[in-house]
Amino acid sequence: MNCSRVTELFIDYQDGTLPPDEAAQMRAHLASCPTCQREWSALQEITRKLDQLPSPEPSARLRENFYAMLETHQRDADAPSPFALAKSRLDRFFELLLPRSPRCSSPSPSPCSRAASSPARTSCARPPSSRPTRRPSRKSPISAPR
Ligand SMILES: [Zn+2]
Repeated sequence: MNCSRVTELFIDYQDGTLPPDEAAQMRAHLASCPTCQREWSALQEITRKLDQLPSPEPSARLRENFYAMLETHQRDADAPSPFALAKSRLDRFFELLLPRSPRCSSPSPSPCSRAASSPARTSCARPPSSRPTRRPSRKSPISAPR
């Protein structure tokens, strides 16, 4: 085991996670190499100092700030999504592009406008075999689950 390999394994050796045979080689090298002995004691010293550092305490304002942040986030979440507008426009586009039947293409309010929610109970409903597809069969990535 050479010096660079030894220093690579220092942390594992310190944690005690090194396999026994490698740990033994490590000890043998450390016993005979002053350079690695110095490196090893420096690492021990740093570790000892790190352990002495006080762990930070959360500030008194942490809870207050957190709830303020949460409220802001909640407001943003409640606001209509920009995708919702885009989706409604896309839906209208496809409605115009793919009319369910010739009678349904008139822009005036008709039973057809309710067709999306309950297609079975409208006068425009035709047997499923002859009905053209209203939407692309592949799910659009922006469409929200219903
Ligand atoms: Zn060495």
